[in-house]
Amino acid sequence: MHEHNLLPLVLLPDIRLRKKAQKVTDINDDLIQTLKNMHHTMLTAKGIGIAAPQVADTRQIIVVDLQDREENPDSSRPLFFINPSITWKSDTYDEVEEGCLSIPQQLATVKRPVSIGLEYTDINGNAHTLEASGLFARCLQHEIDHLNGVLFIDHLSQLKRNVIARKSKTIKKELIKEDKNIIPIAT
Ligand SMILES: [Zn+2]
Repeated sequence: MHEHNLLPLVLLPDIRLRKKAQKVTDINDDLIQTLKNMHHTMLTAKGIGIAAPQVADTRQIIVVDLQDREENPDSSRPLFFINPSITWKSDTYDEVEEGCLSIPQQLATVKRPVSIGLEYTDINGNAHTLEASGLFARCLQHEIDHLNGVLFIDHLSQLKRNVIARKSKTIKKELIKEDKNIIPIAT
């Protein structure tokens, strides 16, 4: 097996983006390889986060890699999160424009808590807690939403959500025609 493989992306509309992911009980080679493949796929698509349902995997795993998007990137920051769970959210919110690898070419401003607490397991099976704020916290919230079948458009008004959902159908058809790296199953 290659060290990294590109995984086909699941695009809206697709029922698999709406299913809850399953808790990981066995951290095996396949899981670690999937995380590496997700990371490679995310970087190739110029994303900063990716969750298992976006590559048609049903496990509770996400990858977050802000790369150089923040002024002081912490190179010791974890990339791979198994069974991540938010333990608290700040009372302060901010609004920032978000996109999603499963909803290409569309951006919208989403209101989220500025800071969060997180519990997760690493690839060695060790449990951790961390506090995150700013873009890191936002990205973690976006990806953990995916594990619950929630998309960033769900945080918008129904009107905005409908507009994006409608455009997504058209964009997905175009991308399938262009034979882009996606899973062409609309359900
Ligand atoms: Zn997303």
